[in-house]
Amino acid sequence: MTDFSMQTDDQGIAVLNWDVPGKSMNVLNLESLKELDALVEQALADPAVTGIVITSGKKDFAAGMDLNVIASMRDSAGNEPARGLFEGIMSMHHALRRIERAGMDPKTGKGGKPIAAALPGTALGIGYEIPLACHRIFAADNPRAKIGLPEIKVGIFPGAGGTTRLVRKLGAMAASSWLLEGKTVDPQAAKAAGLIDEVVPAEGLLDHAKAWVLSAVGTELAKPWDRKDYRMPGGAPYHPTGFMTFVGASAMVNGKTFGAYPAAKALLSAVYEGALVNFDNALRIEARWFVNVLMNPSSSAMIRSLFINMQALGKGANRPEAPDQKARRLGVLGAGMMGAGIAYVAANAGIEVVLVDSSEEAASRGKAHSEGLLSKGVSRRKVTEEKKAETLARITPTTDYAALTDCDLIVEAVFEDPSVKAEVTRKVLQHVGPDCIFATNTSTLPITDLAKASDNRGQFIGIHFFSPVDKMQLVEIIRGKETGNRAVAKALDFARQIGKTPIVVNDARFFYANRCIIPYLNEGVRMVAEGVKPALIENAAKLAGMPLGPLQLIDETSIDLGVKIAKATKAALGDAYKDDAVDRVLFPMADEGRLGRKAKAGFYTYDDKGERTGLWPDLTNRFPPADPQPDLQEVQERLLFAQVLEAVRALEDGVLTDIREGDVGAILGWGFAPWSGGPFSWLDMLGAPYAVARCEELAAQHGDRFAPPALLREMADRGDTFYGRFAPAKAA
Ligand code: NAD
Repeated sequence: MTDFSMQTDDQGIAVLNWDVPGKSMNVLNLESLKELDALVEQALADPAVTGIVITSGKKDFAAGMDLNVIASMRDSAGNEPARGLFEGIMSMHHALRRIERAGMDPKTGKGGKPIAAALPGTALGIGYEIPLACHRIFAADNPRAKIGLPEIKVGIFPGAGGTTRLVRKLGAMAASSWLLEGKTVDPQAAKAAGLIDEVVPAEGLLDHAKAWVLSAVGTELAKPWDRKDYRMPGGAPYHPTGFMTFVGASAMVNGKTFGAYPAAKALLSAVYEGALVNFDNALRIEARWFVNVLMNPSSSAMIRSLFINMQALGKGANRPEAPDQKARRLGVLGAGMMGAGIAYVAANAGIEVVLVDSSEEAASRGKAHSEGLLSKGVSRRKVTEEKKAETLARITPTTDYAALTDCDLIVEAVFEDPSVKAEVTRKVLQHVGPDCIFATNTSTLPITDLAKASDNRGQFIGIHFFSPVDKMQLVEIIRGKETGNRAVAKALDFARQIGKTPIVVNDARFFYANRCIIPYLNEGVRMVAEGVKPALIENAAKLAGMPLGPLQLIDETSIDLGVKIAKATKAALGDAYKDDAVDRVLFPMADEGRLGRKAKAGFYTYDDKGERTGLWPDLTNRFPPADPQPDLQEVQERLLFAQVLEAVRALEDGVLTDIREGDVGAILGWGFAPWSGGPFSWLDMLGAPYAVARCEELAAQHGDRFAPPALLREMADRGDTFYGRFAPAKAA
């Protein structure tokens, strides 16, 4: 079986069709690259072939490279992994360069054959790097298609010539934003940005590409950078405007990444250095920087967590054996912020939804949330009017519990109050059938306790969504003490239906994500109380790769919520409660109405529109700056260790059962420094001995919360790593 096939029509156009057998989406691996290269070579050598169209037999062109290829290239040269990578990457360059030169005589510039790419749908990563090497790129007018180079999102950059080609096509400044942000857009936007050449009706895609192949002449057959008169748009680095561009791009990268991502820096180096030399040398430079990034533990960890493991979890790596449990009809209880979001993602995935609230107005308001999101999609051409109508028709807002009769899954999202939840649970169970699985979206209440309202506790489970539901990728599935396997399978199948990444954890206070994020927030507040300058705390967090500093995050989630959780925790823990220092900062702020962003006053000040204007100046009057201030690394380590030690304790306690879930859940759930690959990957990078020694110092200085858990000590003694010891056999 082959991934590419070739057929030459009666006009002499060879159509190279990419269609990976048995897969819904094309991805490239080293074998298929060789096939493509051999077919291109054959077509170029065949005098009967006048030109080539590269297209796909699927509804999309390609989703990218099979990232497992990187591991096989690395292993291909034994104990010289960098050589294996470099040679593998250069073989990709040769193949794409063959397409680009298309048999042209380098001296005379004659004899080349036109090669067009015809993209029926999505073309990402290598799926766009191959078209970039073609002479003209056609895309079907398919608003759902995505085009772009998202590699940076998994900690690498386009390394099959995409970086060098895009910079030469658009200029360094225009290309940098695509390369550095990994933004993907629909074909119309891609054309407007100059990423592709033509958008044509889907039915005529191949005909348009062929017509161009037949008419293409002269300069159209050479890429601009292969022509003598080529000038880089916006200027090369030594050109006055080019100089400005590179200074600007450098500042932009550091502004956005705070230097935490090796791929962003390496990418910029490849762009800058590549711009100083000819195209083929630029490709070699790109390859060297790409190897540099691939050899960095951060990119291996990011690929492992954000690609390999995320995919494995998405496919149900920890699903118990059970027949298909896809949800057909979903009941959502409570049409507030969360319930409305859950109804939207489910209806969007084709599931019928009954949306119940205690008043008609509230239920309808919940449905209106979907209408708002869908209308926004229509105005951005992401959603058709037809799809909007179909999706909305799936949501039935009501106050009548009898409408839940045929539901096979319920997600309860009413107020966070055990008695309200218990009452609703009992009411629902009077109406639904015996097989219905009941899930609660509680964020803090133990599942095992809430399950007491049901006499069918094997079918009671937690499905914890994050806000905003339509944007946040993670769902945390919580097994109560009595939750059965079918309920877990149901929750996992539902997560898959709505395209979310699930982790499955056992029941414990705050489950996993909130358990780890709270110590981060608290550590930030503790430092305020100690007189660490707030700007140092916030910047240290961002320099460590956290998307938001702890004080900003508290403002976003609201200070009164923090106070509510603190009070409930104190009530539950009694004398074991250790966060009074935090309360001394937060409680007075809440009493004064400084509730965070929603009150336009919190740790930050805000203007009338709710935009942050700076840190609240009075904070340093209340908590005068200590002298001396701690150094940056200490602040960063306090903020990161506060989270990862909790993750280790969650593993130790059996709340987490799979470190892959611990890493993926941390990045997707609360934005834990993505460059690290997650808490366990970060600890592996540091090494357990360093982590233990450093935490002992922090514990001596700042308190027992930093005392290394027994598991970490044992790992340090035995020289273990988390991925060496705990990774399931199939994890990377
Ligand atoms: P919300 O106040 O926006 O919505 C709650 C809705 O439940 C309201 O519309 C209310 O009218 C309805 N309701 C209350 N009692 C009801 C009853 N007896 N019958 C039917 N409807 C009833 O709250 P929310 O932020 O959407 O949170 C809902 C749940 O989700 C809570 O358990 C919360 O802890 C959890 N949660 C919230 C977040 C978040 O960020 N807000 C994140 C994860 C989980």
